[in-house]
Amino acid sequence: MSGFKDKVVLVTGGSRGIGRACAVAFAQAGASTVVISYAGNESAAQETLGLIQAAGAKGEALKFDVSDSAACSSAIEGIVKAHGRLDVLVNNAGVAVDGLVMRVKDEDWDKQLDTNLKGAFALIRAVSRPMMKQRGGAIINLTSIVGETGNGGQVAYSASKAGLIGLTKSVAKELASRNIRVNAVSPGFIGTDMTAALNEETRKRMVDSIPLARLGAPEEVAQSVLFLASDAASYITGEVLKVNGGMYM
Ligand code: NAP
Repeated sequence: MSGFKDKVVLVTGGSRGIGRACAVAFAQAGASTVVISYAGNESAAQETLGLIQAAGAKGEALKFDVSDSAACSSAIEGIVKAHGRLDVLVNNAGVAVDGLVMRVKDEDWDKQLDTNLKGAFALIRAVSRPMMKQRGGAIINLTSIVGETGNGGQVAYSASKAGLIGLTKSVAKELASRNIRVNAVSPGFIGTDMTAALNEETRKRMVDSIPLARLGAPEEVAQSVLFLASDAASYITGEVLKVNGGMYM
């Protein structure tokens, strides 16, 4: 997909998995600058930077915790100052701490809600002004199939991802008149570090419930993110695009 010439993109959690695939896809699609953020995995972030540069874009890696609102604001301020604009925000950084409801600790609840939901809110709040000034932009939030269906053992994670859908639709309504589109991508079961920890039995049970009978690849999610950020999706806002192999329709 082309059309990203001169565009500046921020992908949070771009060091690994789906975020890395998104960052590389934007670079391959001609974005001039792809900024990634990460929480602490310096070597993975550097590896993504190398892939962005190899695809012909300028790259930058910023280490900050998305659950820290002040850090989110200063990251956006810094990007706009350094690159003059910010056209696409991909809220991808996320964490999952599984546990049955009666055993979920406050700190695990807070960590997931603060990273997955408050982080996206803080970044959207920070980009809304510069995107309004430049009269356009695209925001894509990575929700999850379990935000749509619920999942036992993932109460906090599911709640954070369901919250992201409400956030997406509300901000889409607020910012539409300023030509800023806000959409969500809802992956199913994708082969990344987040799903690598599952045991064989759970993995087999999950794959058995997927009509396309396999895990998705991060690159397959990235193509949907790219589409929603592109002019090909110019009349789409407030949408939740499922990328789940038919696991939930
Ligand atoms: P992953 O491989 O576990 O990578 C997580 C990324 O988020 C890393 O880049 C990590 O940085 C970053 N991150 C985590 N906490 C952060 C924080 N507090 N501040 C800043 N960055 C932080 O995840 P993934 O599987 O690619 O998933 C990406 C997104 O898709 C997540 O939002 C996830 O919930 C969603 N999703 C994934 C699946 C799936 O099957 N994999 C399914 C549905 C939805 P470091 O590398 O520095 O740790």
